[in-house]
Amino acid sequence: MTTACEACGLILEIDSDSEGYTLICPRCSNVIKGRSSMLYSLVFSLSAMILMPPAMLYPFLKIRINDYALTATLFESVAALNSEGYLPAGMAVFLTAFLIPLLYLFLVSYVSFEAVSGRNLPFSGSLAHFIHSLHRWHMVDVFLVGILVSVVKLVDMADVYFGAGFYLLSAICFFLIVSEMYFDSKVFWRYHDRP
Ligand SMILES: [Zn+2]
Repeated sequence: MTTACEACGLILEIDSDSEGYTLICPRCSNVIKGRSSMLYSLVFSLSAMILMPPAMLYPFLKIRINDYALTATLFESVAALNSEGYLPAGMAVFLTAFLIPLLYLFLVSYVSFEAVSGRNLPFSGSLAHFIHSLHRWHMVDVFLVGILVSVVKLVDMADVYFGAGFYLLSAICFFLIVSEMYFDSKVFWRYHDRP
């Protein structure tokens, strides 16, 4: 079986002994991912998925002004935006900070699992295509930066504390980035539909 180095285009032969491992391109030393890389992708995407529900339910910010205390979870923020008449903004936050990342992580886990296990799963080819369309739309990191900006703006007016939700979202962001680092659809296509 052959594959091309992503960096220099060198065509490389992968034999059955080395197909499970990450290889180094002999011309440019670029890392050519293998099934072991997809295993990391699977582990990190599953970890991020497991953290999703608690991250949504625990408050990411706690604000105290005099005797008045306020906490905010992601769902409460979406509901607050909707009730203030900012329905499109509320929907954008819900989609890009929750629904799309969750769907993206599920698809990456599914496709990575096929590459790792070597068994063909239903609809995996179409779902692997769909991952490319989705990956630009998950924006947990943007949401996290938004929280930090609001903390900087509020810090002079009130006591602001990060809640468990913030740390969970940070962990999700980290796991998602690492999962993306290891995920390579070329590894999936290399083994997909192989008898
Ligand atoms: Zn190369």
